[in-house]
Amino acid sequence: MSDALLKVSDLRLSFSIEGTRTPALRGVSFEVGRGKVLGIVGESGSGKSVSSLAVMRLLHGTTAKVESGSALYEGRDLFKLSEREMRSIRGGELGMIFQEPMSSLNPVFRVGDQIVEAIRAHRKLVRKEALEEAIRLLERVGIPDPRERARAFPHELSGGMRQRVMIAIALAAGPRLLIADEPTTALDMTIQAQILDLLRELKGELGMSIILITHDLGVVADIADEVAVMYAGKIVEHAPIRELLERPRHPYTRGLLASLPSFRDNLTKPRLPTIPGVVPDLRSLPTGCAFAPRCAYAQDVCRDVDPEESRSGGARFRCHFPQESELQ
Ligand code: SF4
Repeated sequence: MSDALLKVSDLRLSFSIEGTRTPALRGVSFEVGRGKVLGIVGESGSGKSVSSLAVMRLLHGTTAKVESGSALYEGRDLFKLSEREMRSIRGGELGMIFQEPMSSLNPVFRVGDQIVEAIRAHRKLVRKEALEEAIRLLERVGIPDPRERARAFPHELSGGMRQRVMIAIALAAGPRLLIADEPTTALDMTIQAQILDLLRELKGELGMSIILITHDLGVVADIADEVAVMYAGKIVEHAPIRELLERPRHPYTRGLLASLPSFRDNLTKPRLPTIPGVVPDLRSLPTGCAFAPRCAYAQDVCRDVDPEESRSGGARFRCHFPQESELQ
């Protein structure tokens, strides 16, 4: 039996667009081990955020429909829980932080009060005790002068501070799994590194598992244990981080890695390589491999037959012509 904390199997989800059901997730499977970090990487529209929102059942009020599949958390299928059961797990055992904290924080309440509310939603503390706990959490996420800052409104804090507040809210109930959806995208490089350091520290200290969703493979390189690369609603490659960075099998993963800037490239290359073309419209996916129109290795079979999952070393991938050479 798998020792995964979360095991998502063959998740298929569609949205209704102009009266037609359009597949957004086309058989997504992944596991998150206890105390491990899974990075989910892909361009906008690949399905990475939809996967996490589906697991958290936060797509209510949209036209999304889970067609099939399961999301086992500690052996319980999240898709089969009542809304009440799900509410107690969401924000409790499962925490989430988003890209833009300003839109997640309520602008008219002091940040301390917002953390207090999150604490009291899941723990039986009187307000005074919850406020002390909120101040402790603010201190833990690296906010200087936390007693004073607890009285601040969100607009009085910098972007990095607001993201730290969001992390404090996500930690309020002591989650076992934290889903971080592009938590550093809106931040500059120095603050981005500080937030990733904080997540790494918290993982070690609290034994949490983390799903880190990002469009940037560079962000997961230092923190993830495993990485799933998504394209057009499927995971096209899934591997331990070192293996993925050194020997990416899928041409899309290779393209993502080649387009990462490095200091040496900045000095020697006038332009960074890019992946030609754009992510396909899910309403009119090509037959065969969805990456074929952009792939330098595509052959006739790629345009006719969607590749099944294959394995090599510790990696799983979907490609008729996987690359086995190490990345230079
Ligand atoms: Fe490229 Fe073919 Fe592999 Fe798709 S299956 S990624 S088109 S080589």
